[in-house]
Amino acid sequence: MQNASRAVRNEGREIGFTPTMGYLHEGHLSLVREAKKKDQNVGVSIYVNPTQFCPGEDFERYPREEARDFTLLEKENVDWIFLPSNEEIYPDGFSTYIEPPSSSRGWCGDSRPGHFRGVCTIIAILLNIVRPTRMYLGQKDAQQAAVIRRLVKDLRFGTDIVVCPTVRESDGLAMSSRNTYLSYEERRSALILYETLLNGIECYHGGECDAEMILLKGAEKIKAVPEVKPDYLGIVHPDTFQSVKTIEDGNLYIGSIYIGKTRLIDNMIFQREG
Ligand code: AMP
Repeated sequence: MQNASRAVRNEGREIGFTPTMGYLHEGHLSLVREAKKKDQNVGVSIYVNPTQFCPGEDFERYPREEARDFTLLEKENVDWIFLPSNEEIYPDGFSTYIEPPSSSRGWCGDSRPGHFRGVCTIIAILLNIVRPTRMYLGQKDAQQAAVIRRLVKDLRFGTDIVVCPTVRESDGLAMSSRNTYLSYEERRSALILYETLLNGIECYHGGECDAEMILLKGAEKIKAVPEVKPDYLGIVHPDTFQSVKTIEDGNLYIGSIYIGKTRLIDNMIFQREG
């Protein structure tokens, strides 16, 4: 991978890179398509990174289907797929980890201790191997995008970060590889996260700027679905992930719920103008 990417760079071509954990869906493919518009050489990594899973999480059962992923990526005409092994990424003696930025605190950082340390470490490794011109991330994982933006800036990776909009199912549910865990009934209950966030955005359009009012209303909506256990709801600044009291354009409404063992996240951007 390092040799291949060096060869591309030496030819003066720009590399567009999308890191994924596989089990690809339209959300992932939208990142690849965006890369295709901007970069002459486009590639995807598929790697279920063990260090970003906490003990007791779904690392073992995370869905993996390489052959299907390959077919999907072939259709998108990607130039390469990088499939490293655990031994290649974390060889014997590996012991260096990245301390994540302050935007990693709270929210997913609280629910998943150690998660962003694993994310920052794998992204740093992948960036050093691939050395892309641009890296494509999804707005779906908004805190991850904020953390990686900061990481890349602070450690001077010199890669441009492009964050692409969340791709949703026709009823609004954010696409996620983890949706495959949901039973038919759970899938229906899962929609409450999208509906709650959308309701908050609509309140803002209607003139409400008080974050606490919107969060109270949101918590009530989620409480009304007994199959769903709330994890968090918050209204935050998109870079710092600090809570805001008075909502402004660009702030994020973020949420996470449990349905059975499955944890889902989603977010929407408050935007009145433009
Ligand atoms: P994952 O395979 O879950 O690690 O995701 C790989 C990349 O795809 C991350 O940058 C995600 O934010 C992005 N992604 C996942 N789901 C979606 C979605 N529904 N819409 C847009 N991007 C997504």
